[in-house]
Amino acid sequence: MKRSEMLKSVADTPEWDLIIIGGGATGLWCALDGASRGYKTLLLEKGDFVEGTSSRSTKLFHGGLRYLKQGRLGLIHEGLIERGYLAKNAPHLFTSRPFFLPFYSALDKPYYKLGMLLYDFLAGKLVLQKHRLLNRADSIAECPTLRSEGLKGGAVYYDGQFDDARFAIELAKTAANYGATLLNYCKVEELVKTSGKVSGVIATELDTNTPFNIRGKVIINATGIFSDELRKLDDRATPPIMVLSRGSHIIVDKKFLSSQTALIVPKTGDKRVIFVIPWQEKVLIGTTEAVVCEPSNNPKPSEEEISFLLEHAKLILTPYPKKEDILSSFAGIRPLVKSSHNKSSSKLSRNHEILISESGLVTIVGGKWTTGRKMAEDTLNRAFKKLLPCKTLPCKTKSLPLHKSPSFFSLPEIVHLAVEEEMALTAADILARRTRTLFLDIKQALALAPEVIRLMAPLLKKNSLWEAEELDKFNEYAKSYCV
Ligand SMILES: Cc1cc2nc3c(=O)[nH]c(=O)nc-3n(C[C@H](O)[C@H](O)[C@H](O)COP(=O)(O)OP(=O)(O)OC[C@H]3O[C@@H](n4cnc5c(N)ncnc54)[C@H](O)[C@@H]3O)c2cc1C
Repeated sequence: MKRSEMLKSVADTPEWDLIIIGGGATGLWCALDGASRGYKTLLLEKGDFVEGTSSRSTKLFHGGLRYLKQGRLGLIHEGLIERGYLAKNAPHLFTSRPFFLPFYSALDKPYYKLGMLLYDFLAGKLVLQKHRLLNRADSIAECPTLRSEGLKGGAVYYDGQFDDARFAIELAKTAANYGATLLNYCKVEELVKTSGKVSGVIATELDTNTPFNIRGKVIINATGIFSDELRKLDDRATPPIMVLSRGSHIIVDKKFLSSQTALIVPKTGDKRVIFVIPWQEKVLIGTTEAVVCEPSNNPKPSEEEISFLLEHAKLILTPYPKKEDILSSFAGIRPLVKSSHNKSSSKLSRNHEILISESGLVTIVGGKWTTGRKMAEDTLNRAFKKLLPCKTLPCKTKSLPLHKSPSFFSLPEIVHLAVEEEMALTAADILARRTRTLFLDIKQALALAPEVIRLMAPLLKKNSLWEAEELDKFNEYAKSYCV
């Protein structure tokens, strides 16, 4: 995936079948879907691939156990089926992770048993491993750092875990192998219309400030939390449909969760679910729900969210982490779709919605990482059926294996791969997304940044002035990961 070749392809292609705006989970799945069907496909991302929400998830491929209580069996079933396809098509990127749900009253046992049976049943043949019920002693053996006062037992069930940013790069590489052109740091500024119908975009490549006037037959707005901004470019009078909800996570040392089994904090007062999950030799704790007004690709967790996560971790962990134990923290903003019923954001639908405007702009919003493949399939089916019925082609992604990149361990090799094959342009691209160092340990990321930048400079043909500026930029960017 070479950036120079992508730029040449954008400049040389007179018209695309499909232009996708946004390089998050949704846009990347649309790019793979489009290219593998045989459409001439272009994806444009204004920052780095998955720079925003899609690199800040809890990193679970799941049906969502918590939706059982809300009776949303269809939503869970869809997630579990998609989880099964992901396990088959990307086994190298998928970990089957046990989750332990403790109970403190004997009355909880039949209730949890029923829930687990249903969760396994809804996965059908694609179940990862069947759930297990544990007595008190076995529960403590399963999770040695679990607080045991009042513990009666627990249930273990299985869900998928992944590294969202790595998964995204492998999706992009697979799409590129099928002929898609994908360009990061290229912002769509305007939509072009011909006889009232969208027929292209005006975009700026931000590294060299090069403008592009690009023509396309079907244009998809996959900009997540920025969807309303793009919809306004299409029709200034269109009412907003997005509700933005920030979710935060903290990362602590693995001594706080000595098992490979993740924990669920069972009752959080306001009915949120908080997970304590082993991730990349550390422990990830999250998440929260805080409604925000403005979209941002690099939001910062608030003091209240950090305290909330620490308080709830203290309820079930011993030893429990304190503020000074936090190695890094990160937040992302959920792209939820407005409800007419005044629901709180934790109750808003995680379903996706597809809207096609009068001018033909296709907007795909909502959903989650787990259902990205299905979202893309539905979007392209609807879009081509309505806008280009003479060119409908079948979806191929249900059984399409994803690319596997080589694993490197030395810094020069990692930087080389990231710049030459994965289109990294900044230190944050490498330290936050091609590797996850900034997410896992901010001190380590700050210490590595000068060397990473020194290695990047000759590959990108940059001088020492760029190196100094890039280090300042990275130090500023990293501030939102500090507690
Ligand atoms: C805290 C949190 C935890 C979550 N945990 C999970 C989980 O465990 N499992 C799960 O399945 N889902 C999870 N989700 C949901 C999932 O992360 C999101 O649904 C998904 O990442 C949204 O992807 P997206 O591509 O729609 O949006 P985004 O990732 O926001 O991508 C949109 C992209 O569009 C780009 N863009 C915007 N404007 C322009 C423009 N003018 N030109 C070009 N590009 C533009 C943006 O820069 C951005 O990169 C979680 C979400 C949050 C916030």
